[in-house]
Amino acid sequence: QYLLAIETSCDETAVAVIKNETELVANVVASQIESHKRFGGVVPEIASRHHIEQITVTLEEALQEAGMTLDDMDAIGVTEGPGLVGALLVGVNAAKGIAFARQKPLVGVHHIAGHIYASRLEKEFEFPLLALVVSGGHTELVLMKGHNDFEVIGETRDDAAGEAYDKVARLLKLPYPGGPEIDKLAAAGEPVIDFPRAWLEEGSFDFSFSGLKSAVTNKLHNAGQKGEEFRPEDVAASFQESVVEVLSTKTKKAAEAYGVKQVIVAGGVAANSGLRARLLETFQETDQELLIPPLKFCTDNAAMIAAAGAVAYRQGHRAGWDLNAHPGLDLEEYGKRGRN
Ligand code: ATP
Ligand code: FE
Ligand code: MG
Repeated sequence: QYLLAIETSCDETAVAVIKNETELVANVVASQIESHKRFGGVVPEIASRHHIEQITVTLEEALQEAGMTLDDMDAIGVTEGPGLVGALLVGVNAAKGIAFARQKPLVGVHHIAGHIYASRLEKEFEFPLLALVVSGGHTELVLMKGHNDFEVIGETRDDAAGEAYDKVARLLKLPYPGGPEIDKLAAAGEPVIDFPRAWLEEGSFDFSFSGLKSAVTNKLHNAGQKGEEFRPEDVAASFQESVVEVLSTKTKKAAEAYGVKQVIVAGGVAANSGLRARLLETFQETDQELLIPPLKFCTDNAAMIAAAGAVAYRQGHRAGWDLNAHPGLDLEEYGKRGRN
């Protein structure tokens, strides 16, 4: 059984083909990072235009890589939300066009469900499992008791982890996207600055990163005024240490509290070398199995949308010809859709 999936929620135009839920047959990602770099972030209008220009060639390239045609597909999946509305609409309309023309079933997919299902391309899920979602727009701990069964047990109260990385990178005058830049810089520094850790109330699995961002801003500002010198490497390492310590500690506590079998790390920040190393260390001594996707499946791609979409398809999720982009699609509600 073959499913073709399209992802256009942000600044990557991506198409993938998957066989029997977990076997990747084709995976093509066209990134627009270069076009957004000079603006220091993703410009929604530019993103939409790029998707329109890229969608057809990306689709053709994926089919070529698979050595298949649209008629060989059993279903078409597409990221329906969350994301930028103009960007999502390009993928949604392309998927609708294909599905209508070839009379194939259409499946709407949640982008964050996709980030989580990226791990299933590597290893079969064992429930209950806990997913730490750390991306550009989301930071949450998600409990799964079965396929497409999502319970958000903690989430950020302000900035997402990736957003914090990008903002601090801007303070350090690093290019966009800032996450990988801070990661590199941090590797050459020492965490000598004691930035705050936002633990929040006892027992809370929520996160907060805006205080940390302000602390970095103040530190740089005060240092500038007093003529103090800070190595950017040390600022990056200290910032990263604060983020990684909070993320790994809360994930470990939640994994224990809910007695999960597996822990999944998902989203762009899962590519962070400091976070990966700390989580590997943290879960080495526990009974829980840690799944971290390879780097190319951490940031946006369509392989993960195909992996999530194939499960939704099996469960009976079906979108109609009125499928629309849903920029604020809720993960828990999405999961309840087709389950029976
Ligand atoms: P969302 O998935 O929440 O809709 P998004 O799709 O824009 O948001 P992703 O593509 O999943 O986000 O991840 C991009 C984010 O990951 C950016 O904020 C980027 O800086 C961050 N990121 C990527 N690589 C790294 C890294 N090595 N270290 C830290 N952050 C990283
Ligand atoms: Fe994403
Ligand atoms: Mg992206």
